[in-house]
Amino acid sequence: MVDRYQDFHLQLLAGEWREGSGEASRSVTNPYSGETLATIRSATSADLDAAYCKAAEAQVEWANTPPSERAALMHRVVAIFDQRKDEIIDWLIREAGSTQLKATIEWGSARAITLEAASMPSRSRGATLSSDIPGKENLVYRRPLGVVGVISPWNFPLHLSQRSVAPALALGNAVVIKPASDTPITGGLLLGRIFAEAGLPAGVLSVVIGPGSAIGDDFVAHPVPALISFTGSTPVGKNIGKIATGGRYLKKVALELGGNSPFVVLDDADVEQAVKAAVFGKFLHQGQICMAINRIIVDEHLYDRFVEDFVAHARKLKVGDPSAMGTVIGPIINKSQLEGLQRKIARAKEQGATVLLEGEVQGQLMPPHVFGDVTPDMEISSDEIFGPLAGIQKARDEQHALELANGTEFGLSSAVYCGDLNRGLTFARNVRAGMTHVNDMPTNDEAHVPFGGEKNSGLGRFSGEWAIEEFSTVQWVSVQRTPRQYPF
Ligand code: NAD
Repeated sequence: MVDRYQDFHLQLLAGEWREGSGEASRSVTNPYSGETLATIRSATSADLDAAYCKAAEAQVEWANTPPSERAALMHRVVAIFDQRKDEIIDWLIREAGSTQLKATIEWGSARAITLEAASMPSRSRGATLSSDIPGKENLVYRRPLGVVGVISPWNFPLHLSQRSVAPALALGNAVVIKPASDTPITGGLLLGRIFAEAGLPAGVLSVVIGPGSAIGDDFVAHPVPALISFTGSTPVGKNIGKIATGGRYLKKVALELGGNSPFVVLDDADVEQAVKAAVFGKFLHQGQICMAINRIIVDEHLYDRFVEDFVAHARKLKVGDPSAMGTVIGPIINKSQLEGLQRKIARAKEQGATVLLEGEVQGQLMPPHVFGDVTPDMEISSDEIFGPLAGIQKARDEQHALELANGTEFGLSSAVYCGDLNRGLTFARNVRAGMTHVNDMPTNDEAHVPFGGEKNSGLGRFSGEWAIEEFSTVQWVSVQRTPRQYPF
């Protein structure tokens, strides 16, 4: 039995656990019960500077450790994930409002990406290439970027931090994390403790807690980080891209942004199975997932049957305490998100969507809401919902369904249900999105498969060999083995 990590009021700054130097403190609260979980004094830009400078120093030695040592560290982290499984899941429930099911899925995804990262030090490859110049040898060396700044959101805080942190560290980078203000523990401090326990040298990882509005610009513009890996909303991500590429120092950016996933049901689909997939893909984590179904598009021949079954299924979902087994819909993360969803409901009614299912908000619990006769111009279709509201649209035929699916500025995930798998595959290949699933729902993430979006959903890919590309760079070194003949 391991001792549980107790107190989370300190942050990991430049190799030391200490308080931030800011004036303001912020309490971290359980979104279901309102209980205060920790009170954390904010970091300042000076704290951030100390973390980045120490990371730059510590990274040199860390990059020179043998690949097997970095892999072994990742395996020790996986072992701690296993030993502390219940504790990690408990924090995900208490801080992020995750249900038991969602917290277990998130623990599993973060563990899987760590295990995948353990393979990266030995998979990282350079190349030798021929040359048109007589006597020249071309060598391509792969090396770490240096220091990586990671900014993560509150919805899958542990996984969405770790999917950058683990590959970046495994490949010899140092990392500074800035988790979201609602989830500093699961988005950063917990990982700080786990990596320290696993024996990561001091200073290679820092966790800086402070509001994005106060330290966000400095976090991105600081001269040290070579890459800013951001996961969050499209407006904030666009601004980060601007600062990272338009300021004094040019940086790489990995941007994983908002989504507006279509879930398409073609006329030969198995309706029963499609409804099960749609309910799971819409309501897991109260719909607060970037890949969550945002638009359900159903062929008109199946529309009535689909709607009836979907509403009947959604009506039965258990809403309540996320720590209770069987709860599907837990709390919305905070009051301002809840109010935003209430505005979206009012707007959907105003714009003429048919209310098929609704219910009363209690505390921060919002029961499933379902709207029919949704059209592409309604906000519930054009905007990212990020909550337990479902809008169903009718398609005349397959071509119309494809037009509706592609009629968005976003392109993260998507899904199509059909009887004929070849038809599904052809449809999938015509969807402009980073990820499309045939006979499944859009919420999928595997540690070895490329994850990322097109259009306003982002730049870059995570996981597997794609993460190796993202978190390292190459240097071309040539060797002239015989004297080169110069023309003058
Ligand atoms: P958000 O953009 O408000 O915040 C994300 C992070 O950015 C937080 O850590 C926040 O503190 C920080 N931040 C805010 N302002 C900043 C600034 N000016 N400079 C630097 N950092 C700043 O997003 P959110 O509400 O936490 O998360 C929900 C959004 O994230 C949704 O749009 C969702 O689709 C998206 N998301 C995308 C993915 C993906 O993989 N594509 C995954 C999860 C969530």
